[in-house]
Amino acid sequence: MAHFKSYEENTRNFNWSIAENELGYKEGGVINIGWYCSDRICEMGKGDKKALIWEGFGGKHKTYTYNDLRLCSNTIGAYLKSLGIQPEDRVCLFMDKIPELYIGFIGVLKIGAIAQPLFSAFGDESLLVRLENAETRAIITQQKHVSKVRKILDKMPYLKHIIVVDHDEKKPLQEREIVFDLEKAAGVEQLEIHPTKKESPSVLHYTSGTTGQPKGVKHVHYSLISQYLTTKWVLDIQDDDIYWCTADPGWVTGTSYGIIGPFAIGATQCVQDLGFSAENWYRFIEKHKITVWYSAPTAIRSLMKAGEEVVKKFNLESLRHLASVGEPLNSEAVIWSEKVFGKPFHDTYWQTETGSIMITNFPGMKIKPGSMGKPFPGITAIVVDPETYEPINETGKIGLIGIKPGWPSMMRTYWNNEETYQKKFKNNWYLPGDRATIDKEGYFWFVGRDDDVINTGGHLVSPFEVESALLEHPAVAESAVVAKPDFVNMEVVKAFVNLKPGFQASKDLDLEIMNFIRKKLSPLAMPQEIEYVDLLPKTRSGKIMRRVLRAKEWNEDPGDVSAMEND
Ligand code: AMP
Repeated sequence: MAHFKSYEENTRNFNWSIAENELGYKEGGVINIGWYCSDRICEMGKGDKKALIWEGFGGKHKTYTYNDLRLCSNTIGAYLKSLGIQPEDRVCLFMDKIPELYIGFIGVLKIGAIAQPLFSAFGDESLLVRLENAETRAIITQQKHVSKVRKILDKMPYLKHIIVVDHDEKKPLQEREIVFDLEKAAGVEQLEIHPTKKESPSVLHYTSGTTGQPKGVKHVHYSLISQYLTTKWVLDIQDDDIYWCTADPGWVTGTSYGIIGPFAIGATQCVQDLGFSAENWYRFIEKHKITVWYSAPTAIRSLMKAGEEVVKKFNLESLRHLASVGEPLNSEAVIWSEKVFGKPFHDTYWQTETGSIMITNFPGMKIKPGSMGKPFPGITAIVVDPETYEPINETGKIGLIGIKPGWPSMMRTYWNNEETYQKKFKNNWYLPGDRATIDKEGYFWFVGRDDDVINTGGHLVSPFEVESALLEHPAVAESAVVAKPDFVNMEVVKAFVNLKPGFQASKDLDLEIMNFIRKKLSPLAMPQEIEYVDLLPKTRSGKIMRRVLRAKEWNEDPGDVSAMEND
């Protein structure tokens, strides 16, 4: 039986105290995410339950029970303390998706330090910007990434320790480098958990850089309340489920729903550090009998591109509930997933700053493909006028998404950048920077980033709408739509298209695609140009960086691209 009963029932008299009571938290008391993710589950008698099933390259695999998770995170926590790491010191986790990343994250939180996870694929410059901003005290990393830290070491006097978890003895250690081998370290049975309170800082996430300079989003331990309840109600993870969140913890989805949420509810989760291929993903689902799967539109589109034949080679019957986050989930993807997996992906909308899911398609709720669904109970979300910031009451009218501040997992500030933080609020609404419409049944429909919406001759065009139409054409694998300058209309629509294997760019194909989408779009939304590309610029969390494509069209500086894949 789903945790979520019905929208009406769960929204009526909703109070966050539902989660507080389930977690045994009392106002003013201690709340430490690290403890909740390991010790508490053991105290509930589930110490022998599998917490983490991990697979890596070269056939490597490991399994950790909740008791292992508790013990190992104690060990890392105690080690950090022995180095002199203090509460609220920033400790960067700069690793591939290996167990030490997950366990280290919990260990850092247990001692009251702030976990700063960063994508291990970042180059030295991208790393430096973020470590400088946070004045990070220690970095936990792997041998293969140490050279990047060495390159920037001179610029980081505040960085005292470079902790290498898989040191290769043939490689001499250099300045500030030390070795910590979790498997060889003596397990620490008792660790004094730092008595963090509601507002104690927990996690510092750097935003993906789809807009502006990277900003350090500061979260607090009380965020657990939202993350716990959304994991239960939206992802619907039950006691006997096997859960797989495909996100890297360098991105907020990989921590809120790849560490905190699932471990806090005592789930069994699988992680693979093997890179993407459709075969490999389906094999993983089949092998571990994954039941709940949380992924992203970019991955879903890659699976669509790989085709249906490959799906048929595997037994994916274990899948029970699918969800997606990070980008607009095109109706095409929802319909495809229903066709090939027999289940739709449930869209979830949120962002680094919100810390947890804000608007979503709940299990059991009627899905309108292409819609983000409805606000989570306790979340007041509306659309506001972009000029006056007054609520828009007219159904179907485009406005800025506005969320009433005050939910537990809301960011508390941008690190060292309170000014930018304050700018996110207008007329007492928090503005995530996205545009949407609301239909008469209260469903939200994503239009685009506030800065992505195309204004052509005074008519607003959603890039998402055009991309969705393009994606329905059998030759199109992925697309990104941006504004290009135009003398008369100010902006016109330009589409970048990545073709599926077997299709060649040509004038004929151009015409065919245009005729195809003409039936789906208003004439004003029709692209004036299609450019075929092999790759679309994306962030490491898989978001298409339309900003980069747009800048090219306008001959402008694309701004910060440090979060871009292949930078
Ligand atoms: P990030 O903080 O990197 O996760 O980026 C958050 C942004 O990604 C949001 O403000 C949206 O622009 C976009 N986003 C996340 N989830 C969705 C979704 N379900 N539909 C449309 N856009 C989304």
